[in-house]
Amino acid sequence: MDLVAEATNSSYKIGCPATTGNRATSSSPGGNSSNSSGNTNTTPSRYENQKRRDWNTFCQYLNNIRPPLPLTLCSAGHVLEFLKYLDQFGKTKVHSPPCPFFGLPNPPAPCPCPLRQAWGSLDALIGRLRAAYEENGGRPETNPFGARAVRHYLREVRDFQSKARGVSYEKKRKRPKPKGSTTTSAPTAAA
Ligand SMILES: [Zn+2]
Repeated sequence: MDLVAEATNSSYKIGCPATTGNRATSSSPGGNSSNSSGNTNTTPSRYENQKRRDWNTFCQYLNNIRPPLPLTLCSAGHVLEFLKYLDQFGKTKVHSPPCPFFGLPNPPAPCPCPLRQAWGSLDALIGRLRAAYEENGGRPETNPFGARAVRHYLREVRDFQSKARGVSYEKKRKRPKPKGSTTTSAPTAAA
């Protein structure tokens, strides 16, 4: 715990392009983010670009809430609302239990079940936003994207979509490698 910078530096802000209201300084102790600007990788990769876009999207989302929510007050609950909000733009058919195609990977006909964000997309998105939050000055201890509730939600989405779509998201458990042999035949799963 560092309680050093309590009163000396009250300009602790999380960089967010779309957030204009910054009245949340009272709830931000410790404004010494010394390592937030340490960019080790200078080449913008696809991942970096995607991360920036995701971050902007999230900031816009916060800004469109009435009243707009400063990033410093963003909690896991808001992250969950954001994920549910994104579902309306989803492209993955997720069957509900009464649907005859529930659990079928390749349904033979259309059905009225909703389109959702695929679990894999949400999982990757949260990973990027979690990183972006800290890169923009957020503190790891308060990172809402790393909150237990968010992880729990993602796990539930994964389990449900796995059942509903008849697909398995379980990573093939890697058996502990026998000591000495590193590169034996790896079971190749279709991506
Ligand atoms: Zn269906």
